[in-house]
Amino acid sequence: MDCNYLVWTAYSGLGNRILTIASAFLYAILTNRVLLVDGGKGTAYLFCEPFPGTSWFLPSDFPIKQFKNFSVGSPESYGNMLKTKVVHSSPAFLYLHLAHDYSDYDKLFFCEDNQQYLQTIPWLILKSDNYFVPSLFLIPAYQEELMRLFPQRDVVFHHLGRYLFQPSNVVWGMITRYYDSYLARADEKLGIQIRVFDTETGPFQHVLDQVLACTLKEHLLPEVNTQEPIVPPRKARSKVVLVTSLNSGYYENLRNMYWEHPTTNGETISFHQPSHEEHQNSGKKMHNMKAWAEIYLLSLSDVMVTSAWSTFGYVAQGLSGLKPWLLFRPENRTAPDPPCRQVLSMEPCFHAPPFYDCKAKRGVDTGKLVPHVRHCEDMSWGLKLVDQS
Ligand code: GDP
Repeated sequence: MDCNYLVWTAYSGLGNRILTIASAFLYAILTNRVLLVDGGKGTAYLFCEPFPGTSWFLPSDFPIKQFKNFSVGSPESYGNMLKTKVVHSSPAFLYLHLAHDYSDYDKLFFCEDNQQYLQTIPWLILKSDNYFVPSLFLIPAYQEELMRLFPQRDVVFHHLGRYLFQPSNVVWGMITRYYDSYLARADEKLGIQIRVFDTETGPFQHVLDQVLACTLKEHLLPEVNTQEPIVPPRKARSKVVLVTSLNSGYYENLRNMYWEHPTTNGETISFHQPSHEEHQNSGKKMHNMKAWAEIYLLSLSDVMVTSAWSTFGYVAQGLSGLKPWLLFRPENRTAPDPPCRQVLSMEPCFHAPPFYDCKAKRGVDTGKLVPHVRHCEDMSWGLKLVDQS
């Protein structure tokens, strides 16, 4: 009873879940809370316990079902309490709705005065699908501690992620078997993560065009010679390309292109895609384990290409410590020009940040307040941490 708690509830896809657990953990450190993780949606099978001799999972008799149905409209949410002005002096718990559809009232969570009030509540129940760390850096009360914890601002998720998320033995088996069989022996490993946000499954020609335009322009893949069958001299150098996607079409096209034609520089290129699950199915155990194994395998690349807006890609990039080439989001099913750019930092993007000056009580561009919190490359309204030094 001496402790205060933060309960993380399982919600959304795996990339989102990993980013929100990391955000929740950092918030728990800043506010002296114990983080408790809901093992639902297969989360319990994916990770080893990060803290020796104890468990971060909610005890099995915890009445989590009671809290699962909370949403943006729930009267128990802090946002709705602020909206209706019925803020009780000391409720036993409060629900924090920090998901993509949250209201301006929910966003007041990021104001220092409200943080002071939240300190008095023993149990906070969190539902989020956002990497909300960048906005924690804008709350004055936490700035000193954050600077001490992360003197280099653009490695927050890199450190939190590598500390918290160790694959469980089953997933580690999947990772090492795949790595040893297909990736380990190459001179260079290129990871290409293709995430398409479209109602149809694809494959789409414009996405393939974009991937090729990016990888050829940035010299991540060599050109092919369509005129001659063999281009000497053959180099011993080999490159493996790990493709991850829900669809197998991109991988098949790329692999065929480099089978049918020689590379102009003699490099040997092989393509591998561990799975093609077709549809997101985030409640299923094996589906989640494959997704986690693929995120981790991507993070072992030497060079990476990731897709805009995708938290799956952000996690791979953060764990790897690389600055990937980011494929811009296509509009009207057309490959964007330029097709990609290298990101400013390995940090994930906060997709739904507040734009509010808590002191002045008016709107403000929160991407312009301090040098280390900037707008993202792939989402103009998103926020990400960058290192200015
Ligand atoms: P986001 O939607 O791209 O931000 O990433 P999430 O990880 O939150 O949700 C997408 C989910 O779809 C993943 O967790 C997987 O379940 C599935 N998925 C998407 N892309 C891939 C992929 O390349 N490989 C696998 N195995 N699953 C994927």
